[in-house]
Amino acid sequence: MGKLNELTISKAAKGLKEKKFSAVDLLKDCLAVIKGKNKDLNAFVTVDEEGAMKTAKTVDKKFAAGEKLPILAGIPCGVKDLICTKGVRTTCCSPILRDFVPPYDATVVEKLKTQDMVMIGKTNLDEFACGGSSEHSCFGPTKNPHDLSRVAGGSSGGSAAAVTANMCLYALGTDTGGSIRLPASFCGNYGMKVTYGRVSRSGVNAMASSWDTVGHFAKNVEDIATVLSVIAGRDRRDLTTPDREVPDYSEFLGQDVKGLKIGLPKQYFGEGVQKEIATAVMEKVAILEKAGAEVMEVDLPSTKYAVAAYYICVPAELSANLERFDGIRYGKKPAKEPKDLIDFYFEARGTGFGDEIKRRIMIGTYVLSAGYYDAYYKKAQRVRTVIVNEFVEAFKKVDVMIGPVSPIPPFKVGELVDDPLAMYLADALTIPVSAAGVPALACPAGADAAGLPIGLQIIAPQFEEGRCIRVGDFLERGQG
Ligand code: GLN
Repeated sequence: MGKLNELTISKAAKGLKEKKFSAVDLLKDCLAVIKGKNKDLNAFVTVDEEGAMKTAKTVDKKFAAGEKLPILAGIPCGVKDLICTKGVRTTCCSPILRDFVPPYDATVVEKLKTQDMVMIGKTNLDEFACGGSSEHSCFGPTKNPHDLSRVAGGSSGGSAAAVTANMCLYALGTDTGGSIRLPASFCGNYGMKVTYGRVSRSGVNAMASSWDTVGHFAKNVEDIATVLSVIAGRDRRDLTTPDREVPDYSEFLGQDVKGLKIGLPKQYFGEGVQKEIATAVMEKVAILEKAGAEVMEVDLPSTKYAVAAYYICVPAELSANLERFDGIRYGKKPAKEPKDLIDFYFEARGTGFGDEIKRRIMIGTYVLSAGYYDAYYKKAQRVRTVIVNEFVEAFKKVDVMIGPVSPIPPFKVGELVDDPLAMYLADALTIPVSAAGVPALACPAGADAAGLPIGLQIIAPQFEEGRCIRVGDFLERGQG
């Protein structure tokens, strides 16, 4: 039969519909790869073989009974382990939630379950999604499927590596400052970061509530469109999701790019961006230009302040969101008998959080404290507003913008883990997009001399994910 796990969603769905193979066959091939490769990659932290098998069998019965099923029926999906899955452990890869089993599904998971998705397991991440390499996980780092000595990117590294290694056909992730795009770029697949509010965050552990978005990884743009059409939309449990129509995103496939105005932010190709990466992205832009797109330079002058503003705004929100993990209502109780309540908190949080989380809680509480609030937090918020306005201005001139995802190639495991500032800079080109709350699709853009993947991002105005899909699909079909 071959390796069914290597299929795209659309091909697998066709095979299932035509009864060329069953959902159980498809699942078995995915599980076989997980068994073979997860020891090395560490992409999954929990595999729900039993639950997945049960759903696959139900799907097969429905097909056998002649039922017409949605395209995602029977397709194995990986879910980032900070997205709640009913009855399946959801740890956020933090010691404090190591044994947490949610009593309900996140809205995204619930929506996919109505389509009969096969939830194969939970994927690795940086603790509470704080990181760019997936090394800050209590389960150890995820490795890059292209080179096991390198990181998969983060924080949704497990989901990205799982899709590239064909352990599942698509996977869910979250992107607050780059956590879908960076791992998609490092692992060489497609990653959709949506407009803030396009996909419900209900049941997804909050990192920084005014930045967090839920999105997904897939092997091609068609599959990105398929999944987005299902997960996007209004949710009464997340009031940041507007009551705005969800298009059928597959309508943006197969179009041309004639007359499309493409902006190249000059800051995305300048200092700090490796030449080989900028050149690879420009080669893709040239394809679009040849096909009739109008390419022009645009200016996003505050790009250089984005990382600094992010590391004030985001830890501030994070420190507030993580307050609930006190070992009483949420989180593991301390192992040793505490002297008093304060001692209880110190024990529960001191042993429950990793170093990066502690670092961010300290920064967050500091910038919010009386006397420092105006100097840091308020100023950083103002910088965010300036960045938002620069995007609004740029989008008056162009339909989409294109730039690299990461200024550097996938780095070695351990290389930057003790140098937080250097690690933070890997997100220098993804963070401004998150600040503006606009969508961006990470797409493969070839490889560097060492054979490591390079990624570009197609950035669109708010709620114009369709434009990302149109351009991404065109590039995928053009293939150089
Ligand atoms: N790498 C960034 C950080 O560490 C982004 C994380 C994310 O998008 N969740 O904050």
